[in-house]
Amino acid sequence: MTATRELTGVDEETSSFLDTLNAFCRERIAPRAEDIDREDKWFPDLLGECAALGLQGLLVEENAFRRDRIFLAEAVTRLIGSYSPSVGLALCAAHIQSVMLASYGRPAVKEKWLGPVVAAEAFGSMGISEPDAGTDLRNIRTVARRDGKSWVLNGGKTWTTLSPVSDFTVVLAKLDSRDRSAEMGVFLVERDMPGVTYGANESLIGYHGLPMANVYLEDVQVPADNVMTAEGGFKNVLQGLNFARIGAASLGAGILHGCLRLSTAYARSRVTYGTPIANHQLVQLRIGEMMNNLAAAEALCQTAAASYATGDPDPHLLASAKVFCTDAAMAAATACVTIFGGMGVTEQYAIERYLRDAKCTQIFDGTSDILTLQVGRAGLAREDW
Ligand SMILES: Cc1cc2nc3c(=O)[nH]c(=O)nc-3n(C[C@H](O)[C@H](O)[C@H](O)COP(=O)(O)OP(=O)(O)OC[C@H]3O[C@@H](n4cnc5c(N)ncnc54)[C@H](O)[C@@H]3O)c2cc1C
Repeated sequence: MTATRELTGVDEETSSFLDTLNAFCRERIAPRAEDIDREDKWFPDLLGECAALGLQGLLVEENAFRRDRIFLAEAVTRLIGSYSPSVGLALCAAHIQSVMLASYGRPAVKEKWLGPVVAAEAFGSMGISEPDAGTDLRNIRTVARRDGKSWVLNGGKTWTTLSPVSDFTVVLAKLDSRDRSAEMGVFLVERDMPGVTYGANESLIGYHGLPMANVYLEDVQVPADNVMTAEGGFKNVLQGLNFARIGAASLGAGILHGCLRLSTAYARSRVTYGTPIANHQLVQLRIGEMMNNLAAAEALCQTAAASYATGDPDPHLLASAKVFCTDAAMAAATACVTIFGGMGVTEQYAIERYLRDAKCTQIFDGTSDILTLQVGRAGLAREDW
């Protein structure tokens, strides 16, 4: 049987890198995943170990647009996400920062932040959502007013993953007006700029270990070097979200993989009526369904990465990938709990963690409902079916 990696054109060097990474996951990430979740503890040391393997540096500068690197970043997120979605999401965050800096960062800002982000010595966060603007992003209230060559920002961001520990936040703001149709810009707001403050840490059901808080901006003077785009910010953030959706899809596929790892091992060891539950057909059916979905999810992640790598990605394909993979992750986590019976809802096994993380993954970077509506509208507008 030809290995999937061969079928999808993964070269020998990359394949051996992924094998090394899998060993790293088993030795370094898997043993930490439970503690990170239970203690909800931020893990910069583990991210330092990832940085030593070069994981945060895959998409720096011109590499951000290289097809082989985009494919590798997708595979890395999927593999790490199968052991710890929290660690996977932290790496996704570094990749998104790299892509945003490569696409829109001015030289001085890149010089200052790219190296530290790649070395896991600095962390960035994305400030897009606001209390009244998650799905409805045109409703953001944060405003930037021009002041000579710099800009003054006022407003606030919510749901900002990693903001309590991040050195900078990439902020989406309206320009000069809070009108719904106002032009938007993207600004790199640094933690120590006067007027930047943070709310209390949010307590979420999933993705533990990644601190999250509101970011408040009061008369924050942002110099010209920190302006990522002063116009067309909405479009640019949507492009960033396109990339983020591949990451979310990979995390979904990773969770699905993790569920298979757990449920096959448990099904082989748990005995009822004198035989392992693996011998019961309904258990086989559930495992088979997970495998069907994993095969489709992996292929979809790779197709989404290929679309992104063209430089002109199909946003609906990326949305489909995000929805399919995260919904399949949720279904797999639910099926996995069923296979575990009562043990599935105890904290003794990682399955309840995958269930909580899967639910969160369906929500961020566009909810499954909203993305499916967008895909449906695109389908209705097409006449060449
Ligand atoms: C774990 C996690 C991490 C996150 N990290 C970040 C981050 O780092 N930075 C950031 O900026 N944001 C982040 N977010 C925010 C996330 O992107 C938003 O939660 C998401 O976009 C949904 O927005 P909302 O929560 O405001 O829901 P709402 O927009 O209020 O939607 C609520 C419900 O209504 C539905 N709905 C809304 N409008 C319509 C419509 N027109 N038709 C039909 N149904 C509709 C939605 O599908 C959803 O089910 C994060 C969220 C989570 C859960």
